Amino acid sequence: LHRNAGEAEFHQAVREVFESLGRVVAKHPAYTDQALIERICEPERQIIFRVPWVDDSGQVQINRGFRVQFNSALGPYKGGIRFHPSVNLGIIKFLGFEQTFKNALTGLPIGGGKGGADFNPRGRSDGEVMRFCQSFMTELHRHIGEYIDVPAGDIGVGGREIGYMFGQYKRLTNRYEAGVLTGKGLVYGGSRARKEATGYGTVYFVERMLATRGADLEGKRVVVSGSGNVALYAMEKIIAYGGIVVACSDSSGYIVDENGVDLELVKMIKEVRRERISEYSRLKGTGAHYIENGSIWDVPCEVAIPSATQNELDGKDARTLVKNGVMAVSEGANMPCTPEAVQVFQAANVLFAPGKAANAGGVATSALEMQQNASRDSWSFERTEERLADIMRDIHDTCARTADEYGAPGNYVLGANIAGFVRVAEAMRALGVI
Ligand code: NDP
Repeated sequence: LHRNAGEAEFHQAVREVFESLGRVVAKHPAYTDQALIERICEPERQIIFRVPWVDDSGQVQINRGFRVQFNSALGPYKGGIRFHPSVNLGIIKFLGFEQTFKNALTGLPIGGGKGGADFNPRGRSDGEVMRFCQSFMTELHRHIGEYIDVPAGDIGVGGREIGYMFGQYKRLTNRYEAGVLTGKGLVYGGSRARKEATGYGTVYFVERMLATRGADLEGKRVVVSGSGNVALYAMEKIIAYGGIVVACSDSSGYIVDENGVDLELVKMIKEVRRERISEYSRLKGTGAHYIENGSIWDVPCEVAIPSATQNELDGKDARTLVKNGVMAVSEGANMPCTPEAVQVFQAANVLFAPGKAANAGGVATSALEMQQNASRDSWSFERTEERLADIMRDIHDTCARTADEYGAPGNYVLGANIAGFVRVAEAMRALGVI
């Protein structure tokens, strides 16, 4: 603990994986040889840097940038960049650690990494965001590359920011290296279905979990927290499957619409106007209402998809959801449920999908974007979505099978942790002590 003092989220993520590893180590003691488990917890490289930029009023602003290159046993480091004022080393390390196992679960050749900055894009002009992205990439560019480390988006980093960062990378290196970033726009090397992939993928996972109990999303009440990239496309797929999204949120509050959330309106508010979710009830009028602060998990539902941020759903929220009859919970975000919440769901026999399995569709499609870039190809939406659906089905089935094999049927947390760990561990053993 003293080695990583003050990194609460990192401790939480490591503890959660360790809780699953007892069974695998009992069966395969060789996984403890050569300090493999200690090595897996230590990032290969951590970069922390100054990001100076000039705001619209001419003031110099300083932010702190991070890139944690966690594990490259399976392929180049791969993981998103987060711009949010809460970003610190512990958060980036927790995300990089989770990412390593998530990427392994996809079965694709990608290692794990994560980055970001404590920059708050809220209220910043387009010019300020561009200058920030350029300054961030001015340092980051020397640490990344198609065969080294391939960043993507995360909270606060979408298509606009990836575009500015790619532009700066291209300018600094004088190389059109499309495979250095994923989540790019379609006109300059992006993949169809990447924007949709994380949200769609988490809903495929839910459908497959529900099917194990002979159920599906048709007619189910669903609550999705957040209204960003993951949340928007989770809602889109839920609606396509006949589910009814009754609530979504942002960091200021949540809206409830008993008639089913009007997704086009939410997209207009969030993707086009970049406004607050409170605008929804103002524009929609009757049937919808906005609740400032408060917990979105008080809204009764059968399926819950937390898709905003870490630790947004605690034990009390989980008990409320269980009392209201929730059947399935799928983590669209990374570690949105506290350990106590996960225990509450598992004790109540609620189907629970951990983020490293349920939200892996985004990074999987990023790996498909890398494939398209490497072969200078561009696949159709249908072909890409089909691959995504196959990968999510495979992740679900791998987690379920692994949980059975290790004597914990239905425990997707254990299944995901063990299956991801085994892939990384096998590669690390093969590569020697490095
Ligand atoms: P976005 O920035 O697009 O959206 C984030 C949403 O969550 C916004 O509605 C935001 O509200 C809300 N939010 C962010 N921080 C907080 C907070 N501290 N408290 C309450 N609400 C908050 O991010 P993404 O949709 O890309 O990411 C959401 C989650 O999904 C993250 O955990 C991310 O790591 C994870 N994820 C994302 C992937 C991707 O492909 N994008 C892939 C896999 C996981 P506001 O606008 O008010 O800040």
